[in-house]
Amino acid sequence: MSEVRVRFAPSPTGFFHIGSARTALFNWLYARHTNGTFVLRIEDTDAARNTEEALEVLLKGMRWLGLDWDEGPEVGGDYGPYFQSQRGDIYQEHLEKLRAAGRTYEQDGAVFFKLDGERYTEFDEYLGKEVEKVRTAPVEIDDAIRGTVVRSEDRDFVIFRSDGSPTFHFVNVVDDIAMKITHVIRGEDHLSNTSKHVELFKAFGARPPQFAHLPLILKDPRMGKGKMSKRDRGSLIEEYQDRHYLPAAVRNAIALLGWNPGDNREIMEIGEIIAAFDIKDIQKGAARFDEDKMAHVNFQYLKALPVETYAWFARPVLTEKGLIPENYSEDHLQRVLALCQEKITSLEALPEFCGYFFTDDYTVDEKARNKVFKKGDPAELAGQVKEALEGVPVENWSAESLEAAFNSLAVAHGQEKPFKWWPLTRFAVSGLSSGPDFLPMLEVLGRKTVLRRLGKLSQA
Ligand code: GLU
Repeated sequence: MSEVRVRFAPSPTGFFHIGSARTALFNWLYARHTNGTFVLRIEDTDAARNTEEALEVLLKGMRWLGLDWDEGPEVGGDYGPYFQSQRGDIYQEHLEKLRAAGRTYEQDGAVFFKLDGERYTEFDEYLGKEVEKVRTAPVEIDDAIRGTVVRSEDRDFVIFRSDGSPTFHFVNVVDDIAMKITHVIRGEDHLSNTSKHVELFKAFGARPPQFAHLPLILKDPRMGKGKMSKRDRGSLIEEYQDRHYLPAAVRNAIALLGWNPGDNREIMEIGEIIAAFDIKDIQKGAARFDEDKMAHVNFQYLKALPVETYAWFARPVLTEKGLIPENYSEDHLQRVLALCQEKITSLEALPEFCGYFFTDDYTVDEKARNKVFKKGDPAELAGQVKEALEGVPVENWSAESLEAAFNSLAVAHGQEKPFKWWPLTRFAVSGLSSGPDFLPMLEVLGRKTVLRRLGKLSQA
């Protein structure tokens, strides 16, 4: 283990936003890259919002993405508890430290943190009254991504509310000190809080951690302008889970939101990402979400899977839709999937693309029907194909024998090639105008099914 200790410090809201997932991922990657420690700390001081279910969404999403934590809920660790709601004593102790150092005062029941510096009063336009201000030495924030950012605080701020609860700034800093966090990697929206945090670190006599504020994630330009919000399509990890994305693909695509390996590699094994990842390579400018890229990365992962693994992911998608029973033959499933895997861009599309392998009750594509029906009498053509394929016995039912049968059919009708019958046959057995390679598709569908479906069309 190295000295590096990073943390992901979410406030569970019931959603796992892609921006939070990226923060979690970058912390995790940095911990794994440096052989450091990845801490999961739950910032659940807002009791109303932080329910058990909200926590579950988050933990489930983290596990799904494969972001295992070394310290935190369920795994424990030396610096627990890892729920802020359980750290009341620690916050009290730290409050006492500040109090003893003369850095606090009470006003209207709340406890304020007292900045260091010359005091003066000034009329505040916004509040419409005279307020006390403090001339502090500017805070230099050393940010690994943004460089040196200089900010100053000029007003004391609340660290304990009048109801006795500590504020975000206070608990965030106390925990980073108490948990010996060395690097704070978090969203850019927190940069504006950082000068307060640095003031608190100094007041505690603690060295501030290395900060790294991650760039914003902007909407896919087709969805509008500005920061991606939880209402935007593709913004929640739950959505990718529901849509049967591969977790490794989602993780790979999220890694590219604001980071790249310095060359044009995009599809990378997680080991490669860990090896290449470094905070200094994170970009300063906003990252842009791209729905198509997410889908593309997922497709590349799907294509690369061994068919056994592909089947492992595909089976629940098909059972969920009632297309196959739980105990459906693994061998047959893999034969079907081997044909489709190269062509189907997502597991979500699987039922529509290859449902006809499993049921007669598939949807017929009207466009495909019109296209096929324009090219001659469908019943007559289907009848001809049926007759030709009936000549192939079940024990010979293979792509090669079927090809031979089609060739004879062509010859019998004075044609050089049998392609005239293909679109209609494909439509007859699948209801579609495109799909896997034609002859292997007929082979896998099997003699009975092919003849039955051709028979139905020849009598239509
Ligand atoms: N609970 C804060 C958040 O969810 C954590 C901020 C931080 O990482 O310091 O944004």
